[in-house]
Amino acid sequence: MERLACYDCGETYAFGDAARCRCGEPLWFETDTTEFDWPDASEASGPTGSGVSLGRDTLWRYESVLPATEPTGLAAAAGGTPLFRAPSIEPADGPRIHLKVEGVNPTGSFKDRGTAVGICRIDGPVGTVSHGNMALSVAAHAAAADREAVVLVAEDTPDSRLAMIAQHDPHLFRVRGDYGRLYDDTLDGDLGAAFLNSDAPLRVAGQKTVAYEICEAFAPDAPDAIVLPVSSGGQASGVWKALRELDAAGLLSSVPRIYLAQAARCDPIARAYRRGDSCVEPVEGEPTVAVSINNADPPSGNRALAAVTETDGGVVSVAEETMIAETERLAADAGVSVEPSCAVATAAVRELAASGELDAADDVAVILTGSGYKYGASEADTSSVREVDRADVPAAVRDAMR
Ligand SMILES: *Cc1c(COP(=O)(O)O)cnc(C)c1O
Ligand SMILES: [Zn+2]
Repeated sequence: MERLACYDCGETYAFGDAARCRCGEPLWFETDTTEFDWPDASEASGPTGSGVSLGRDTLWRYESVLPATEPTGLAAAAGGTPLFRAPSIEPADGPRIHLKVEGVNPTGSFKDRGTAVGICRIDGPVGTVSHGNMALSVAAHAAAADREAVVLVAEDTPDSRLAMIAQHDPHLFRVRGDYGRLYDDTLDGDLGAAFLNSDAPLRVAGQKTVAYEICEAFAPDAPDAIVLPVSSGGQASGVWKALRELDAAGLLSSVPRIYLAQAARCDPIARAYRRGDSCVEPVEGEPTVAVSINNADPPSGNRALAAVTETDGGVVSVAEETMIAETERLAADAGVSVEPSCAVATAAVRELAASGELDAADDVAVILTGSGYKYGASEADTSSVREVDRADVPAAVRDAMR
């Protein structure tokens, strides 16, 4: 599993020899899964050789198809997240919605899957260009593995986010200038750290395990569709790669369709999809509450678009108010707190149900990519909170419950 391949032109490279394909597209690990089968249930005791007991499975259940082995500490704890049906948020006559709650990963997002595989594979300092969940994940995993970490955040990153990242003690830099171009700068590899950016091959390898977990839960059937938010296209690439690998292993009764969701205010992949193009063009994005998916020039945009077209899925743009309402719905009706960047995916299911693209015959797995408990504070709505004196508590509670 040491070679990288281009999904588009098929060119291959030794791991470490190239950051992108000569054709310009991103690379991923070549993985032969023709012999792969679901691990025995008796092997379901957590990460092998880690000395860590979690009482549950983790992504290391699929170690045989990963480019890393022998996880320890925090890395051993990534993945193995809950998947459950949520009838309370299903649209009438719409599909069955199954929520994959990635917020229960160690640092509260799916990014831990890619970071865990990356940190177990590479030696020495690690880095990332991110001001959100990926920065937090890399900083935490580096701390756990006793590595130096370089985190480059954008100039306008709020202090509350900086503080959250800084607690894990990385080398943290607020960078002035074109933040989008920083991604390219770090590919050159002369910064003295291995950069685990959003669509790095090691990250995509780790992130594919979310779709392994979803499909194994449905085996020997398969879900009809998998719906997820998209920004750089890293996770979408991982999901597509997983489906290709599981299909090659003969483990899918049918290949689930991949649907991607974007905020309408910054939706380069959705626009290319609507145009019928295979190439994603950069857009002038506007600010959106979906901060974790606000990428106007996604480095794996073309690959994400190919994932959609090859699986017969689609890309949906979701309006700002719809995303906010859906975030509230998930918390109030399904008990799951997420960022708007995740709620965009169940909002997309609602739109796909309304247009008839998904219906009551469909089982849809929705990846809720990150926890809402981290980022709620800035836009918190406390208008429903009642002030009450201690003596008045019984009356106030009775009144509220009436
Ligand atoms: C990073 C992130 C995404 C987008 O993932 P990409 O791999 O960049 O497409 C979606 N949701 C959340 C919560 C994220 O942190
Ligand atoms: Zn290529």
